[in-house]
Amino acid sequence: MFFWQARLLYPERPWLRVIEEGHTIGTHTLKHRNLAKLSYQQQLLDLKQSVNEIESITGTRVAYFRPPFGQYNQETLRAAEELGLETVMWKIASIDWELKNTPEQIVSNVADHLQDGAIILLHELKQTVEVLPELIQTIRKKGFEFTILNKS
Ligand SMILES: [Zn+2]
Repeated sequence: MFFWQARLLYPERPWLRVIEEGHTIGTHTLKHRNLAKLSYQQQLLDLKQSVNEIESITGTRVAYFRPPFGQYNQETLRAAEELGLETVMWKIASIDWELKNTPEQIVSNVADHLQDGAIILLHELKQTVEVLPELIQTIRKKGFEFTILNKS
């Protein structure tokens, strides 16, 4: 699942490939503000606009949401619910954004913490893409498989 900031999802971005390859695009808000610092109305508006923008470009319904920085409060959850969005956090943080020079550590950060149902946090960074095939292979070798989160 790809959580996308609406400001970064414009026609030239590879969103079509993401969808065609069977992935889901969720919202990561308009521009990555810390929602916990905004009022309920501001949060609602941000989420609503981000969903509208992503949906109007991709033509697919946005059903999932990940709060920027993993920061949220009760009003964030209420705003998400109001819009029919499921809030998705994560269980395993790869810390890939800090591992530009030691991408191998992305693999061990994840592989050492695997458990059933765990959601893994990754970013579309150069170092992450570099080790992704190895990461997937390592996870499968340990006997886990990938599933698609699906509401329906
Ligand atoms: Zn983020």
